[in-house]
Parts: sequence; C-alpha cells; structure tokens
Amino acid sequence: MPLYEYRCAQCGEKTEVLVRSGDRADAPRCPACGAPMERQWAPVAAHTKGAGGGSCAPRGGFT
Ligand SMILES: [Zn+2]
Repeated sequence: MPLYEYRCAQCGEKTEVLVRSGDRADAPRCPACGAPMERQWAPVAAHTKGAGGGSCAPRGGFT
C-alpha cells in the first residue's frame, strides 16, 4: 500500500497515512493544532516536481 505523508499547513506537523490502492483517504487533522493537513505528493524520500497539485507546494523546512 502506498504511504502518503501529510503535513500541517499551520504548524508543520507531519504524519504518515497508509492508503489502500484506489482509495482516497480523508485528510487527517493535525494532532497538534487541529488544522486540516495537506497531502504531500512526493512519496517519502522522493521528490517530484511539476505534479500539478497547486495547493501543496513545498515550503522548505524539511527536517
Ligand atoms: Zn498543526
């Protein structure tokens, strides 16, 4: 199953969510501040540019 990383747009909290093939998981809520989290398009440890999402551009601050 693909593992998607979600990141909080408010505080940068990250979480990883397993998504079943062909399924779309609802965006989780940030455990720290409760804001909706944005799915990162790139799989963990791989970055893809130009993936036309529009709302999930990298903002730096990766640790
Ligand atoms: Zn947060």
